[in-house]
This record gives sequence, structure tokens and C-alpha cells, in this order.
Amino acid sequence: MTTVENSAHDGGAAHRLAVLGAGVMGVGITTLALARGIPVILVDVDGAKLDEARARISQELRMARLMGVLPPDGAVGELVTATALDAVAGATAVIEAVTEARDLKAEVLAGVSAVVRPGTPLVSNTSSIPIDELAGFVPRPAELIGTHFMNPPYLIRTVEVIRGARTGEATMAGVRSLLDALGRKGVVVRDAPGFVTSRLLHPMINDAAKVVQAGTATAEAVDALMQDCLGHATGPLRTADLIGLDNLVDSLWVLHERTGDEGARPCDLLLEMVRAGDHGRKSGRGFYEYEEVRP
Ligand code: NAD
Repeated sequence: MTTVENSAHDGGAAHRLAVLGAGVMGVGITTLALARGIPVILVDVDGAKLDEARARISQELRMARLMGVLPPDGAVGELVTATALDAVAGATAVIEAVTEARDLKAEVLAGVSAVVRPGTPLVSNTSSIPIDELAGFVPRPAELIGTHFMNPPYLIRTVEVIRGARTGEATMAGVRSLLDALGRKGVVVRDAPGFVTSRLLHPMINDAAKVVQAGTATAEAVDALMQDCLGHATGPLRTADLIGLDNLVDSLWVLHERTGDEGARPCDLLLEMVRAGDHGRKSGRGFYEYEEVRP
């Protein structure tokens, strides 16, 4: 196992992070960086998402501090929001966390590589799309790497790092330095559809949804059994709600199309729930109901 070890956090002084996409993960990664003193430029095409993101980031910062998982004091990094990519010109690293669609990510990554200084690590937070497939769309493929932060990033200290076939040494070093500043431990894996975590977790969640679809058990019963008998931290269907069912379905399609694995074909129940707008926590309803709607 190759790990990117973090030591004591070196402060955010050397870093200026750009985060693309102000959804579930963009908000979470931004929260983590700001709390570590790293300034962030957060970009989304949707201005309303940026407004929601500011409120959500303040809430997450408070929650993370209360839970004792982020430094209790120290300066919070400055947050700048923008709807256009040229705002990221001065970034020392860019984390792309836009919707899980290959062509969209290709366009965003190509656009951002035209704006940043050569040598700036371009980091995709894709759940499933092979990094080398995305590298085909950027002019300097050695600068592209995957980091699969888990949700919520301020709570989960380990990050899956995906080294593509063309990822360069300088990019590896840049990401090591960034994870160090974020207080995160990277576990480096090779490139493949879904890497390790989504390849294992997403078909398993699909199976859990099929059990509910078949009427064998309720979502509550599936999660209770998986938690209490098999040691799953939150239960697969509560995890699905946290991920976002729309994102989960996108990721399952990526897996299915690239591996041919029928177990990764999203089941009818998941497809119906996405069609109905029941996307999980972020929409207020998924396998469970939520009072507080998250962006
Ligand atoms: P999300 O749907 O919550 O947010 C995506 C955001 O991207 C939206 O705010 C949307 O407006 C924005 N966007 C779309 N096109 C854009 C563009 N051209 N430029 C800038 N912003 C744009 O999605 P998410 O759950 O935050 O997932 C983001 C990425 O992270 C995906 O690749 C996903 O697979 C991955 N991921 C998600 C999770 C999770 O638990 N949700 C975990 C790990 C990785």
C-alpha cells in the first residue's frame, strides 16, 4: 500500500485552492480547506448554488468545530466565489467537483488548464471516471490526478488518491503537499473505473436498493442489519442518501458502461427515485426524510 502521509499541518500559507462545483462535495472540500487556513476560490455556473454554499460552509464549519474534528482556533481561509473559470488563474491547485458526467468534466478541466499556470495540479474528485480517460482532454496530462474525498470531507481523514498512467511526479508531490496542509492521509491506488471505493461500495448500495425494491425489507431494516450485524458505519441506504441518489446513479452508469458488470446497472427503484427528485439529504427526501435540506 502506498500512502501519502500527513504530518502536523503546515498551515495554508503556501496554498491557494480553487474548487470547481459548489454541490455536496465542493462545499465539503471548501469547508475543510478554509478551516485549515487555506484560501479558496469556489466556482459554480449556478450563482444560487454559490449563495447556498456560503451558508452551508458556515454551518459545516460550526458543526465540525463542535465535533472537534477541525482545529478549534487559527485563522479561517478567505472564501471567494465566482461563476467564471478565469477567477482561478492564481490557484496553486484546482479540485474539480462538478457533476459526475465525463463530457462536462472534460470541458471544465480543459477550460481550467487554459487559465492556470502550467505545473498547477488539476485534481478531479470524480467517483468513478478513470483519470486517464479525463487526461485525454487536457493539454498537459501529467498535471491531472484523482483525489476521491469522501463525504463529509471534514470528518473522513483518508482520501483515495488515483494516479493515472500519465500523472507526473510533480503533480504527485503537489497533491501530497495539499493533503498534508489539509491534515488528510492519502492512499494511492492505480486507475480503473470506480478505483477501489466506488467499485466496491456503489454496486453494494445498488444491491441494498434491490432488496428494498423486492419488498424483502424496508430501508430501515436493511441499514439496521448492516450496521448492527455487519459493522457498516451508517448503513448502505443512509450512505446513499448522503452521497445523493442522482450522483450515485451517474456513478453506477459509469461503472456499468466501462466494466460491463450487470451488478452496477442502477436498479429501477434508484432510477425512479431520481426521476421523482428524491435525491437524498440534499433534496430533503431519499430512503429517509430530512428536515434540513443540504445543498
Ligand atoms: P452535486 O450534484 O451536489 O454538485 C455538482 C455541482 O457542480 C452543482 O452545484 C453544479 O451546479 C456544478 N456544476 C455543473 N456544471 C458546472 C460547471 N461547468 N462549472 C462549475 N460548476 C458546475 O455533486 P457532488 O455530489 O458534489 O459530486 C461532485 C463530484 O464529486 C462528482 O464527480 C461525484 O461523483 C464526486 N463525489 C461525490 C461524493 C458524494 O458523496 N456526493 C463523494 C465522492 C466524490
